[in-house]
Amino acid sequence: MKQETKIKLAEGKVLPVVEEFYSIQGEGFHTGKAAYFLRVGGCDVGCKWCDEKRSWNPDFFPPIDTDEVVARISQCPAKSVVITGGEPLLYNLDYLCSELKKRNIETYLETSGAHPYSGQWNWICLSPKQSLTPREELYPHADELKVIIANHKDFDWALQQAEKVPANCLLYLQPEWSVHQEMMPAITDFILKNPHWKISLQSHKYMKIP
Ligand code: SF4
Repeated sequence: MKQETKIKLAEGKVLPVVEEFYSIQGEGFHTGKAAYFLRVGGCDVGCKWCDEKRSWNPDFFPPIDTDEVVARISQCPAKSVVITGGEPLLYNLDYLCSELKKRNIETYLETSGAHPYSGQWNWICLSPKQSLTPREELYPHADELKVIIANHKDFDWALQQAEKVPANCLLYLQPEWSVHQEMMPAITDFILKNPHWKISLQSHKYMKIP
């Protein structure tokens, strides 16, 4: 990568983009709402069940101008954008968010929390992973905690993580897709016993939309 591009990347003036699309949020609190989706390339968290492994290596996604991305987002009928990945916080998102805010576009972040905080957000969904745990600075920003349940030990992890987020943070358990049928009885049982938690389903997968 050229030195000039490295500098722009550090400033957030360019970003490695995997894909952009207009769809409906399928998970968590904002399920069912139309939004623009921006998937940023690069992730070092290494979840073995990750369904976006193609996004892990940012070298496959040469950085493009953030201004171009903002212009496309601005044309979207829904004035909200979900920044996802990969792990978006690998990058400085201050510039992206400030340009979106100037255009009154709501910014939603999906993050593992494993990298430094940047950007200005209307909503942060923190989805912590045991393979690379969130930085302590991220927990106070979480509006929504979404813990993926792939096995029975993950319930303890969910409870530990819930102790770190603000009291008004919404708590969600989401079955890992490849085992969702076998994990669902344990998840429903947990939620019936712990009713301040809710289920998040990957409804976009049921609807067969991106
Ligand atoms: Fe995949 Fe997200 Fe885990 Fe990264 S944090 S490996 S993108 S599921």
